[in-house]
Amino acid sequence: MTAPLFLKPVMQEKIWGGNRLETEYGYIIPSSHTGECWAISAHPNGVSQIANGPYEGMGLDALYAEHPELFGFPKERVFPLLTKILDANDWLSVQVHPDDAYAMEHEGELGKTECWYVLSAKEGAEIIYGHKAKTREELKAMIEAGQWEDLLVRVPVKAGDFFDVPSGTLHAIGKGIMILETQQSSDTTYRVYDFDRVDDKGVARDLHFKQSIDVLKIGEVQNTRPETLDLAGFKTTLLVSNRFFSVSKWEVERLVEMKQTSPYLLLSVIDGQGELMVDEHAYSLKKGDHFILPYPVTEWQFSGEMTLIASHPNEEKKG
Ligand code: ZN
Repeated sequence: MTAPLFLKPVMQEKIWGGNRLETEYGYIIPSSHTGECWAISAHPNGVSQIANGPYEGMGLDALYAEHPELFGFPKERVFPLLTKILDANDWLSVQVHPDDAYAMEHEGELGKTECWYVLSAKEGAEIIYGHKAKTREELKAMIEAGQWEDLLVRVPVKAGDFFDVPSGTLHAIGKGIMILETQQSSDTTYRVYDFDRVDDKGVARDLHFKQSIDVLKIGEVQNTRPETLDLAGFKTTLLVSNRFFSVSKWEVERLVEMKQTSPYLLLSVIDGQGELMVDEHAYSLKKGDHFILPYPVTEWQFSGEMTLIASHPNEEKKG
């Protein structure tokens, strides 16, 4: 089947969510506390369904298991990536995610290295990105004493910024920010601080000091330095490439012919509109659409004026 696989996203309500997944991206949301759109997901906590073609209605998890030919006969047992759009109407918890070894031992799933492309940010918006403790002992003491203002590194953000967030990085997305997140397919979060919030039943979310102190890295966080290649009417920016995934931004302003250079690609239209041509079939694209170009799709064309985020898994290097 040489056709793209469009996906039907899954919405997740969160204490910090808002309504911009509807007002800005046109999704149907369950409430005005909708925090996450799981756009391309095979994770059991929210599986996206195929929205077109012969596999319409099938979950991405089942498709990946039953049709390895669509994904280039991959080695990974589970679909390794997860693409989300987040609407932080309020601060997310200050949190950290484990690496694969710790997550497999303690949670029975993948670890979580993630990265964020900032879609929009209100005036004065900030994130938490790293901490100031010099040793693990100091980190533990500051967490246990709740010295948040001394511990947390705050960074101002604007639309178009990108942040690499490897496992072990202390982080929080701030109020008024929308991001597109590309991450390993994992749902393990260790919360360090939740701004002393309670839900509408007066219940605070769990904190995980022990696990957090186990997995937090010491030292400054090193962000990537994305570089843009401007090909007159088509710009490509490599945002990050690590052992788990590569993520790029593509800005289309004319007809571009492209070829598959990885087994398959995950794509999200984050602005504008245009068209995708595969095998003489045209598919219209608009902001908020998410699709996979599977292994049999070896070449295609984009046209129109739109910005996409493209990602693919990287084969883990052994040894
Ligand atoms: Zn996170």
